[in-house]
Amino acid sequence: MLNKNTLKYLYQDLDELIRQYNENKIDRFSFVSEVERLKQANEVLLNGNEDFAELVESALYEKEYEILEQMAKTALENAKMPSSAIKVLILSGAGISAESGVRTFRDSNGLWEEYDVMEVCSAEGFERNPKLVADFYDARRSDLESKHPNLAHETVARLKRKYPDRIDVLTQNVDDLFERAGCPDVIHLHGTLTDLRCEECQNVFAIGYKSQIDVICPACRSTNIRHNVVMFGEEAPMYQKLQHSIDECDVFIVIGTSGNVLNVGWFAQWFEHSLLNNLDPDEHLDPYFKIVYHEKATEAAPKIEAYIEEFFSAL
Ligand SMILES: [Zn+2]
Repeated sequence: MLNKNTLKYLYQDLDELIRQYNENKIDRFSFVSEVERLKQANEVLLNGNEDFAELVESALYEKEYEILEQMAKTALENAKMPSSAIKVLILSGAGISAESGVRTFRDSNGLWEEYDVMEVCSAEGFERNPKLVADFYDARRSDLESKHPNLAHETVARLKRKYPDRIDVLTQNVDDLFERAGCPDVIHLHGTLTDLRCEECQNVFAIGYKSQIDVICPACRSTNIRHNVVMFGEEAPMYQKLQHSIDECDVFIVIGTSGNVLNVGWFAQWFEHSLLNNLDPDEHLDPYFKIVYHEKATEAAPKIEAYIEEFFSAL
């Protein structure tokens, strides 16, 4: 399936080749072999887009540059979604919930002082000592119950309610603070603390802030129950949703994540518009984003809201 970002990059590659050939920077032989390479590398994608496939064929049969350029523009226009369908991806991490007092591994007074992350958050650790892991998640649930969403959660929730089809809200956080702020359709990339999962029938069910000890699956009555949080060494099925959002969205907003788990800097390169809000500067991450705010998420939230609102109203 050809999405708009992929097509844009294909178009740019082809356009650059046509330009170089037109300006005699590459010879006919190089041009044809490069276009062939581009075509082969993207064969699967091009099958989904006849305009672009035809454009590549035409380029190979030496049509006039002006005609090719016009065809490229038309192909791109045809593939573009209407501007009213422009979409925003908001991806958040621990930083947004840290201000609500949800403890993370990395902040000061972080959980790493009490726990070995690989003992309680990895598939191997879980296999070695499931009781320790169950106790760990019980403690996280109990900790979460007394916490409240902050202005940043509320801002994202308000935007999502206002533009339900134009904003994707994805988070690496397993807490339920977005939900409690009234945010619908939050995609939790690493699972949810307030649910449990049955290992027998894969049923996911709500536990709230209670202990998972001695819980029975309401669907199959199995006692083989685990936390619904993705651990190191496990698949994260929701990453498909992330890939889909990256493909479909035009604006990338990142709040409170250092990019240690997800390479958000790499993702940012695929967007024309990107904004990063982290407390601390990061010379390896910041340069990938067009706009960077080094401040608390609650301080940046009104600016992020204005940025998104302005973006939508400008269309
Ligand atoms: Zn079950």
